[in-house]
Amino acid sequence: MRIAVVGGGAVGLVAAAALADRDADVVCFERDELGNGATGRAAGICYDAFADPLDAAVADRALARYREWDLLEPWPYVWVARDEADARAVRAQVDRMQRLGRNVSHADGATLADRYPALETETITAAGVAHDAGLLDPTEVVDALAVRAREAGAVLRPGTPVSLVADDLRTLATPAGEERFDAVVVAAGWATERLLADADVDLALKTYRAQVLETTPVDATLPSLYDATREFYWRPRGDGLLVGDGAHDASPGEWNRDADPSFLESALGRLGATTTLDPAVARSWAGLCTATPDRDPLVGRVADGLWVATGWQGHGLMRAPAMGEYLASSVLGTEHPIDAQVADRLDPTRFDGTETFDALGDPTRDWE
Ligand SMILES: Cc1cc2nc3c(=O)[nH]c(=O)nc-3n(C[C@H](O)[C@H](O)[C@H](O)COP(=O)(O)OP(=O)(O)OC[C@H]3O[C@@H](n4cnc5c(N)ncnc54)[C@H](O)[C@@H]3O)c2cc1C
Repeated sequence: MRIAVVGGGAVGLVAAAALADRDADVVCFERDELGNGATGRAAGICYDAFADPLDAAVADRALARYREWDLLEPWPYVWVARDEADARAVRAQVDRMQRLGRNVSHADGATLADRYPALETETITAAGVAHDAGLLDPTEVVDALAVRAREAGAVLRPGTPVSLVADDLRTLATPAGEERFDAVVVAAGWATERLLADADVDLALKTYRAQVLETTPVDATLPSLYDATREFYWRPRGDGLLVGDGAHDASPGEWNRDADPSFLESALGRLGATTTLDPAVARSWAGLCTATPDRDPLVGRVADGLWVATGWQGHGLMRAPAMGEYLASSVLGTEHPIDAQVADRLDPTRFDGTETFDALGDPTRDWE
């Protein structure tokens, strides 16, 4: 089969490699540089701390791949609550995760204080620790995935924007003219919705903007951490920390790639309240994430010859190996270890594309 993959982010590159591995003739089109979308802007936190069986199965598969490819630096992920409602949620999540076989444990402020002296633990009411979590370097991931895809025989074409041709969804309009394929796979991040809309296919997808900053060096050993009450997270990166917070609605057409001054101030303020540290901002940026009405991604066939993979709700990098491979098996009609569980739940046609929903939703859903 001759297959086009649109999008040279983590998902597109994994799918391209997996398709080429199974003897498909693959061309991956990327309009900018590889990894220039959300993938290159990601924080790189990766964990298996999910309390939903499907999310947990996907995470197991994805983390196993990242370990196999030597891209995952093991690093604990801690999530903390500072009020009773959040504490009840965190305790229930840890219980459910343990029942699913996750290597997670309950923790309290005193245990965390012993292990991480720079952490402000006095107001922590409950915490969970994911021991099998890790850190990814997005640039390293993109480089390694591109090497894998090329070695498998895929042709990567960065600097090549394409669009769908409405009356033949297996044909792409490229700068060099139209090219026809046996199948087209669109893994173009937030741009997926617009690409499909131009071909009269509606997707239930919304876009939101997420911001992060990197600090100057800090002298402390810290885990990756999500503070459910103060609604922000960090991970160690280089000698400093990468700090991010929730998300903001954004229109894809006019989004600001720089972080807002108000975000920098509030994120540093929360970091100061949560640790003994007082670093400055070294650099910062923003990126676009995608959301769906039920917070599950859209992965699968949308029309004859046309597949999509998007709607990661800020968790696409950590899931990319499992979901890119699943996508490839869906296109080729071959078996995949998590096939039976995902096909219906991730089916992109489960919505008709006219739904109205809140892109930001309830972030605690991510651990349910
Ligand atoms: C600030 C921030 C922090 C994040 N942190 C994490 C994290 O810690 N862990 C995690 O798992 N996830 C995180 N995410 C989410 C993660 O980055 C995404 O879910 C994931 O990278 C999506 O990968 P993708 O390949 O689907 O899309 P993308 O990486 O966006 O790739 C899509 C590609 O398609 C290309 N494209 C678009 N239109 C066209 C066209 N017409 N022709 C050709 N190419 C086209 C784009 O240029 C882009 O390179 C974060 C996101 C942001 C913004």
